[in-house]
Amino acid sequence: MAGSNAASPKDAKKPKPMPKKQLQYFEKRLLEERKRVLKELGHHGDTFGPNGEAADGDTSAYSFHMADQGTDAMEREKAFLFASKEGRFLWHIDQALRRLYKAPETFGKCHQCGEDIAFERLDALPNARYCIACKQREEDSKKG
Ligand SMILES: [Zn+2]
Repeated sequence: MAGSNAASPKDAKKPKPMPKKQLQYFEKRLLEERKRVLKELGHHGDTFGPNGEAADGDTSAYSFHMADQGTDAMEREKAFLFASKEGRFLWHIDQALRRLYKAPETFGKCHQCGEDIAFERLDALPNARYCIACKQREEDSKKG
């Protein structure tokens, strides 16, 4: 009969996804932002995307769900998007959506310290990867 009351408090703090309602809320927020940025990008249907296939005003063909294979395509897409500021933003939104779909327990958690990112911050910037404290530290180190 071994004493089983020795569970370390650390184990109790496993990452748990945020409530489904919140995930859905942020999914919507991200999709909205995505739409807006695509518009800002001018989204010329014939030049967007690695295949240059014309999209009829909709970009659902360019989907996260099929992004698992083909890191090559992903790299090309990244190079394409990183050519502009809006494109970079779009990339980060897509990354956030991927996290939300594939690893919801990591969504809304700081990549640096693992703490929850404040709701207000995520609401303003749904693709945020760092909590305010870590972001601040990063900015400070840049200034220094
Ligand atoms: Zn943090």
